[in-house]
Amino acid sequence: MAHSKLVRDLVAAIGAGAVKAEPVDLTLFSKDAGVTRGEVRAVTFPVDAAGVSAVVKVAKRHGVPVVARGAGTGLSGGAVPADPSVLVVTMRMNSIEVDADNGAAWVGPGVVNLDLSRHTAPLGLYFAPDPSSQAACTIGGNVANNSGGPHCLAEGNTSVHILGVEFVDADGVVQVVGGLAPDMNGLDVRGVMVGSEGTLGIITRVLVRLSPIHPAVRTMLFAFSDVASAAATVSDVIAAGVVPAALEMLDRPLIRAVENFVHAGLPVDAAAMLLAEVTGHPAGIAAEADLIVATAERHGAFDTRVAADQAERDLLWKARKSAFGAIAQIAPDYYLHDTVIPRTRLVEVLEAIYEIARRHELLVLNTIHAGDGNLHPKFAYDGSDPDQVRRVKAAADEVVRVSLAAGGALSGEHGIGLEKRDLMGLSFSAVDLDAQARLREAFDPDKRFNPGAMLPAGSRCFDFGRVSMGSPLDQVSTRPGVGT
Ligand SMILES: Cc1cc2nc3c(=O)[nH]c(=O)nc-3n(C[C@H](O)[C@H](O)[C@H](O)COP(=O)(O)OP(=O)(O)OC[C@H]3O[C@@H](n4cnc5c(N)ncnc54)[C@H](O)[C@@H]3O)c2cc1C
Repeated sequence: MAHSKLVRDLVAAIGAGAVKAEPVDLTLFSKDAGVTRGEVRAVTFPVDAAGVSAVVKVAKRHGVPVVARGAGTGLSGGAVPADPSVLVVTMRMNSIEVDADNGAAWVGPGVVNLDLSRHTAPLGLYFAPDPSSQAACTIGGNVANNSGGPHCLAEGNTSVHILGVEFVDADGVVQVVGGLAPDMNGLDVRGVMVGSEGTLGIITRVLVRLSPIHPAVRTMLFAFSDVASAAATVSDVIAAGVVPAALEMLDRPLIRAVENFVHAGLPVDAAAMLLAEVTGHPAGIAAEADLIVATAERHGAFDTRVAADQAERDLLWKARKSAFGAIAQIAPDYYLHDTVIPRTRLVEVLEAIYEIARRHELLVLNTIHAGDGNLHPKFAYDGSDPDQVRRVKAAADEVVRVSLAAGGALSGEHGIGLEKRDLMGLSFSAVDLDAQARLREAFDPDKRFNPGAMLPAGSRCFDFGRVSMGSPLDQVSTRPGVGT
């Protein structure tokens, strides 16, 4: 097919093999793993910062926005263009240069999270943030969303593990911020880049901190006959001064769905289960594990299982990380929410979520990063039924409001993207939004990078009146073409 001048200029800049613009490509890359879809004008696959710079310059000449994309596993529509855009897909930027002496590595943004740890394992090192999507998601996406994961309770979210960032700015110039020095002088621009969701520049290399692989690990599963006892165990363990490497909760509907899918011997009669893990030196973790077991049993855990070996440990984690696949047995679509609340409000907010689901006649299944209060209710539904879509939208909206009323935040780890952009006014004052918009303008005065993401229209003080309060699912239509 005859291509536009934009596509021909992109081909001239980075080569025909690095540009795709056939209708099938534009459709394929028009959504991420969430529920929104956008319009793509061309998909580019640069191999280095020079290629990214060339794409940014061509797009600038044509007045077209640029949206960065890693693996497209994001759930908030962050890599989905709000306006017709050129995509920069980073999958071919996957170099890894390890600096073992400094416990660090410069890596391409397209390196898959798990591949990095596999690469460094022979050196006794790993990259600690472990999103459940780690077999697919990229380091660039992790940085842009400041992603979390089950083991980020003790290790900290991605931000803690990022020492420096190389990025292409709005003029196509390559910049480097941060570095190996333990305390960089001046403003922490590295910190600003982490979590910026592709709105400040395109990340072309990341200096990551690598952590020593823990010499010992113990993984435990506890079954409870009510959610409150599981939540009380979580609070008491942390109050006792133990921060486990991971402390995850699954509720009954999800336990049953996962067990049916993975056959890991999960306690299908439990109302809730906890998956707890401690890591460190053998002597230290034995004491911590004993304390966790005693706390769970004091709160009535009726089944306690300590993984006997690596194979059993892997099976339990496979079960935890298979929640998404398991739901596919139940309904063709699910809407996964991501809010975070104070840990102490867990039981009350969870009860409110069950009540919301009941009232809207929806099935809700919950995985919870219980240690840090990060909720992931998943509403199972059929996207071809407009009535179900309407009910899921209403329920999702209520979950946000209940979480915020409990002192929580809009997103624990998945980012704001397009999904929650129009809810930012619920969480931030007009002054806060204006400050964020000004910062963004300082990097990208022409709003070239991911212009529709994260900040709602009207964030600048001059047009406060235009901030809209939409539902997280406002962009969802009925299938075909939507759903995850
Ligand atoms: C099954 C499943 C489980 C998940 N579990 C978790 C979890 O446990 N924890 C968690 O935090 N998230 C989780 N996620 C969400 C998602 O995997 C993460 O947000 C992940 O970090 C996204 O990486 P990605 O490479 O797919 O990024 P994409 O989806 O491609 O992009 C995400 C955002 O990053 C920006 N971006 C990507 N690359 C760059 C770059 N080079 N420069 C600038 N901006 C860039 C994009 O513009 C977009 O805003 C899960 C998703 C799925 C589908």
